[in-house]
Amino acid sequence: MRNLSPPSKRSNEQFLQERVDYLESMERWHLQEFDVLAGISQIQEDIKNCSNRKEILQKSAAYLDRIPEMRRYGFCLINERSAEFSLDWVNHEESKHPLQCVMDAMIENGDFGWATKSDRSEVKTVLGQPIILIRIAVPDKFLGILIAEVSSQTAFKKHHQRLLTAAVQHIAYALHSQRLYQQINVQNNYLESLIDEKTQQLEHASNFDPLTNLPSRSSFKQQLELSLARASRNNESITLILLDLDFFKRVNEGLGHANGDELLRQVAARLTKNLRDYDPVARMNGASHQDLVCHYGGDEFCLLISDKSESENINQILERLRTSLSRPFHIANREITQSFSAGVASFPEHSINAEQLIQHADIALYQAKEQGRGKHLIYNHKMQQESLSSLTISSKLHQALEREEFEMYYQPQVNMIDSSVVGLEALIRWKDRDGNRIPPDHFIPLAEESGLIVPIGNWVIEQACKQVNDLLDKGFHIPIAVNISARQFSQPDFIERLLSQLNRYSVPHHLLELELTERVVMSDIEDTTQTLKKLETLGIKVSIDDFGTGYSSLSYLKKFPIDVIKIDQAFVSDVTTNSEDAAIVSAIIAMAESLGLETVAEGVETIEQMEFLRAKHCKIGQGYLFSKPLSREQLDQYLSAKTTDLTALQNNPVL
Ligand SMILES: [Mg+2]
Repeated sequence: MRNLSPPSKRSNEQFLQERVDYLESMERWHLQEFDVLAGISQIQEDIKNCSNRKEILQKSAAYLDRIPEMRRYGFCLINERSAEFSLDWVNHEESKHPLQCVMDAMIENGDFGWATKSDRSEVKTVLGQPIILIRIAVPDKFLGILIAEVSSQTAFKKHHQRLLTAAVQHIAYALHSQRLYQQINVQNNYLESLIDEKTQQLEHASNFDPLTNLPSRSSFKQQLELSLARASRNNESITLILLDLDFFKRVNEGLGHANGDELLRQVAARLTKNLRDYDPVARMNGASHQDLVCHYGGDEFCLLISDKSESENINQILERLRTSLSRPFHIANREITQSFSAGVASFPEHSINAEQLIQHADIALYQAKEQGRGKHLIYNHKMQQESLSSLTISSKLHQALEREEFEMYYQPQVNMIDSSVVGLEALIRWKDRDGNRIPPDHFIPLAEESGLIVPIGNWVIEQACKQVNDLLDKGFHIPIAVNISARQFSQPDFIERLLSQLNRYSVPHHLLELELTERVVMSDIEDTTQTLKKLETLGIKVSIDDFGTGYSSLSYLKKFPIDVIKIDQAFVSDVTTNSEDAAIVSAIIAMAESLGLETVAEGVETIEQMEFLRAKHCKIGQGYLFSKPLSREQLDQYLSAKTTDLTALQNNPVL
């Protein structure tokens, strides 16, 4: 049993003094611990507004320094991308090297690796120093290690360690929050830059045409309004040119929409360059007086000429544009020439408001196209009335078939050696019920646009079959050729309908021929080949019409089962005066001959042309030299004369 007897007087005093000392030291320690704990709880508050990691670590140090027995220490944080540690921050600059050495040694002996995985820590002697490692982590996220040198292994007690661990816990949360905040910031910045970019794109898209990068229609109209207001104030004039590419549809149909778009881009570039080059002040770029070109949609461009002197020379400007666009465009390894039609309206002469100015330029453009394209017209008030009648054509066309307003004409094709009639081309004519004759150039494009070309084309085939039958009854075995549009040719029941008409009128297949233009043939090569093969099997002849005007790839002739090439009248008309045309026609005939194809020369009007063609071995001609297109009654009379007397034609070339 323990001796509980009172100590001697000296030892009693000593005992009491020791107790007092102990209690005082406990009190000091508790005060210190209280101070540290109060500080630690303040860490979160103090570091929550820190903008970066360094600031957090600096502020944290103020609390870590209060923990008793702490000496030098540093934070080894992990780089998330490289997964490598670095001694990011140390409490004193001179601590850096010794701590780095300690860290390297602990990595070497595995203590560091162990500490990254464990929350348990203890003071160890490394390189002769008492060192403790505390893991810096939040749930599911390891951030690094606090490496600290303490006064001694024995002096650094468990409660010191608890304080240090608690402080590091707070620091870990602060570091983690800062990382998240940084990531969110990065995301936010990225989103903001995306939004900025999209906003700019949208702004650009609403102001610029994406295809040509020219000002869009809407921004052009705004600019026009501004220019009109300025011109009105300064008593100036403004001219508006609406420009439309002639037969652009052929490019789209023949070469595909991507190449059509490419042509539009090249045209846009030339128009822009033309205006800019002409004006050394470069008014295109934001000066107060601006000439502008915009892609107005489809194959139309709109030009705003705001200078007074230029407006007075609008014909010169248009000639300049025409020269610029007449140089060949290089599209899909081909050279394409592109003409245009244009309508012109001026402020204040033709209108004082933007909307009406555009409308008037449009009316002038429409009339220019009506008059055969490749032209420009300046608006005048009579055009307003005439344009209304053009709109009426469209609406009348819908009823023309049922009202039986169409009529067939037939133009003979003549053997230029023996003057016999070897074929007829069926040509549609339209006389409306008011007695107006509407030229095919006017209504065929409208019929193509509206799709009416299909029923009209079917009607033409029926009439041709009926006519062949009629001629057979009269003893004439003459084939009739009909022109087939792209839309009609691509109908799935095209051959079926053709056969039903041939059967209905008992027409031998070789007496009906089909004329297809190059663009029809080239529009969908795969389908075209299929249909052409079926026609070949059925014994129906096919001609390539207007040869030379399209996208003359001679190589495709070999691929398609075709029988005849009709040389376009554009070449024939100048064959005796233009050596280039003569060379082209000679080459076409020679090439056709080598491929075993017949040639028919279109638009033969003079004896000289006929002689040239005969000399080149082109046997068949069609044109006013032999006959204009004939109505059924006229055809009967013509054929009853049996053959065309070529000698007589010399004296009277047009029948
Ligand atoms: Mg034809």
